[in-house]
Amino acid sequence: MKADLHNHTTASDGTYTPEKLVQLAQRKKIDVLSVTDHDTTAALPQIESACKKAGIQFISGIEISCHVDDEEVHILAYGIPQNSEKLEAFLQLQLQDRLRRLKEILVQLEKVQVDLSFDDVKHHIHSESAAGRPHVARALVYKGYAPSIHEAFRRYLVPGTSGYVPRQKIAAEKVLQLILEVRALPVLAHPGLIKKQEHLESLVDQGLAGIEAYHPIHAAWQRAQYEKWATERKLLVTGGSDFHGDQKKGHGSLGSIAIPQTHIEHFLSRVN
Ligand code: AMP
Ligand code: FE
Ligand code: FE
Ligand code: ZN
Repeated sequence: MKADLHNHTTASDGTYTPEKLVQLAQRKKIDVLSVTDHDTTAALPQIESACKKAGIQFISGIEISCHVDDEEVHILAYGIPQNSEKLEAFLQLQLQDRLRRLKEILVQLEKVQVDLSFDDVKHHIHSESAAGRPHVARALVYKGYAPSIHEAFRRYLVPGTSGYVPRQKIAAEKVLQLILEVRALPVLAHPGLIKKQEHLESLVDQGLAGIEAYHPIHAAWQRAQYEKWATERKLLVTGGSDFHGDQKKGHGSLGSIAIPQTHIEHFLSRVN
């Protein structure tokens, strides 16, 4: 059985529409597919109906950005309800914070004679749920304030520069509570990206149900280490390509991560 449990569409920062993603999954002979857009459930109804037609088992999912202390972590949730008022209200607050922060960045930039309007940036945003620094960077390049995206970040958008404004920090503990409340399964995405590995233990204490050991950024030894760690704690082991449709570092191509059958079966026996 072939599964890919971590993917993005145009509803967040992916480049494939829900329909195109499912078509590709069909060509890649994927049996179980979960789409986990950043902070939005917008693509799920389309993915679900396309999967039904394609004979692919669909698992509803999302990837939520939050913090443990000062460190950003991404928590995947599987088997989420698609009409939960509680979840949607939370996502709406995340969205409002993104837009608030975007506007603050523009105010900061104005102080250093960078003249960008909200419309200049909006032009580069295809999904509000992912609106952020990358879109400001594109607008900065477009208007000639920087020669490249990389330079735009370096000059204006990283901590210590004029346009850096952090997003509101949501505690991972709160996000875990919310996911458990809506009876979904919380899984830590790409744990290898976390600098302070001791955070993993506190997340488990707060209700984490699994860990994404199989991810393109992990070397074989990391995968083995996370697998062992999860097994000792009776946690689920999941995996996915983190496909975004592009060739960005850290993102795989759809279906490129082989997850062992026992992990897939264990996951399917637990998820809604
Ligand atoms: P945000 O969520 O708005 O803070 O933006 C974070 C995103 O910006 C990350 O997912 C990266 O894709 C991108 N990013 C962060 N730092 C850089 C950088 N130095 N150069 C290019 N892209 C970056
Ligand atoms: Fe992403
Ligand atoms: Fe992520
Ligand atoms: Zn992702």
